[in-house]
This record gives sequence, C-alpha cells and structure tokens, in this order.
Amino acid sequence: MKDQRIFLEEMPYEELNDYLMEKTGQRYRIQQLSRYLIQGIPTIDDMSSLSIALREQLKNDFNYGSVTVENEYKSSMDDTVKFLFRLHDGYCVEGVLMKYNYGTSVCISSQAGCKMGCKFCASSDIQFSRNLTAHEMLRQVYLMQKRAGERIGNVVIMGIGEPFDNYENTMGFLKLVHEPDGFNIGYRKITVSTCGIVPKIIDFAKEEMPVNLSISLHAPNDEIRKTIMPVANRWSVDEIIKACRFYVNKTGRRITFEYALMGHVNADKKQAYELVKLIKGLLCHVNLIPVNSTGSNGFAKPDQETIKTFQSILESAGIPVSLRRELGSDIQAACGQLRKTEMKGL
Ligand code: SF4
Repeated sequence: MKDQRIFLEEMPYEELNDYLMEKTGQRYRIQQLSRYLIQGIPTIDDMSSLSIALREQLKNDFNYGSVTVENEYKSSMDDTVKFLFRLHDGYCVEGVLMKYNYGTSVCISSQAGCKMGCKFCASSDIQFSRNLTAHEMLRQVYLMQKRAGERIGNVVIMGIGEPFDNYENTMGFLKLVHEPDGFNIGYRKITVSTCGIVPKIIDFAKEEMPVNLSISLHAPNDEIRKTIMPVANRWSVDEIIKACRFYVNKTGRRITFEYALMGHVNADKKQAYELVKLIKGLLCHVNLIPVNSTGSNGFAKPDQETIKTFQSILESAGIPVSLRRELGSDIQAACGQLRKTEMKGL
C-alpha cells in the first residue's frame, strides 16, 4: 500500500511548528528542525540534538526523503571519490567528490535515471524512474561534505539526470544550497549543466541567479549531434546558440560549452573549424573532455595529436578553451556506471 504520510521537508513552517509544540511544548524545536532541513541532514536518525523519542515520533508521523551512502569508490590515482547513494524508495543515484587545487567540488544527480539518451553516457540506457526533490539533491552535498571533512566550495549539477527536465526542484535546490544558515554556497560557485532544453535556458536566464550555465554541446552541427544526442531531434544547434545569446545578453555571464571529444565522431579539424564559426563572438568558454569510455558505448578517446589540434584551432580563433583533467578515470567517474550495476533488480 502506498505510504500516504506527508514528507517532513514539505510541511509548511507554521504547521510543523504547531506539530512540534503539541508534541514537545518546546518553542526552540522548530528552529532546530528547520536548520537540519536547510543543512541537508540525510535521515531523521541523524538529527542528533532531538531526543530519540522525538525522532521516533517524527519517523512514525512523516515520510522523509532520506539519502544514504550505499557504497563509495576511492580513486587510487587522485583524491576523487565516487558515491552510490540510496534514496528512501530504493532508487540509486551517484555523486562525485573531487579535489582541485582551488578547492573541493561535488557533482550531484538531479534525477533517478535520465530520459535524454545521450549515446556516450552510461545513464542513457538506465530507465528514468523519477525526479529528485530539492532536499534529495541537498542531502547528496551534505554526505559528500561529511566525507571530505572540509567545506565544499563548488557544486555542479552534472550527475545522473537532466536538471532542466526537473526545473522546479533544481531551482529549489539552488536556493537551499545558497541559504546562509545552510551550506551558504555562493551562486557563482554553482554550475548547472543542460543538454540543451531550449525553453528552460530562456527561463533560467530570467531567474536572476548568477549561477554558471554549462551546455553539453558535443557537436557543431545537427547531423553529428543527432547521432549522439537524441535531444538534438527536438532542438537544433542554432536554437541552442540563439538561447545562449539571449542568456548572455540578459545576464552578462559567460557560458561554458562542454565538448566530449570522440575519435572519428566529432574531434576532427573540420568540426573544430565548424565549432569556431558557430560560437565565435559569444561570451563563452569551451571545456574539452576526451571521452571516458564506459566499455559498452563504443566511443574511443582520440589520440593526443587530435586533441591538441582541436584545442589549438579554438585557441587560435580566440576562444578560451580548457582540457578537463581526467579525474578518477580508474573508478570511471562518469555518471551512471555504478547505478547501472546496482539497480538491476529494481
Ligand atoms: S549526459 Fe546527462 S542528459 Fe545525457 S543521458 Fe547522460 S545524464 Fe542524461
């Protein structure tokens, strides 16, 4: 039978206050509980300053979108740690903790599964199960910060799922993680990545939140893009670039284009020149990512010469480029791989 109880995190403040007053008669309980929610406490049992009796009462009366660490995989090559998180209803998502010389970053998931079907992504053949709530996204940050033992400096929403296909919860998460009483992470330290849901790029431009926007472009034309990203059948490269121009004009912020280099697909000189033509003059930055083969996707990492040539064609045209350090390649720190193995029974 379906659990009819309301989620604790969805209770309006006044009602929760009335409930706590009725159960405990203590005014300060609402502040304690609200702070726990804003801080992303992963389960009710972790609310250690509440009495055991009150925690039991809460567990009895409410549902809770708990998130727990099912497993973690530490890279032997660097400090990257990949997490498999278990949600309250049994679904799994993934997160990655990365240490850079400028600070600690986490990558979180926004959906259990993904509908977008990008061919190079391990999440693409995992059936979409459901959207994550804003609090479930926040709880991933909490768990990875706890593991890191230090304050998280940057958050990227680039794990399993398409955040703009779960737009309202993603916006809710951005506000929560920015809360001064919670993680207090500046908007400029957060990046949202989309595969190009054009109407949501427009909506996001109007949000007046100075969050970084990253577009998974991966091809300079529709012909190639359609072969690797089914979303290209819905929105063309030109429509995406037009939306990006709107975003830049509206916000004055620079866009990042993610471009996974795949040998014999999109990494030749011809595509580099095409990309230059497409984005020249736009306030942007290109992040090149030599593809991290998942074994089953059939894509090959281009050789060093090809990668270098692609990079230098962009640089010569005055386009800022970076080549992503391949963090945690021994633990396959690309989204979807752990979940895929773990969710076979669900
Ligand atoms: S790359 Fe992102 S949008 Fe594409 S299938 Fe993977 S998770 Fe979904």
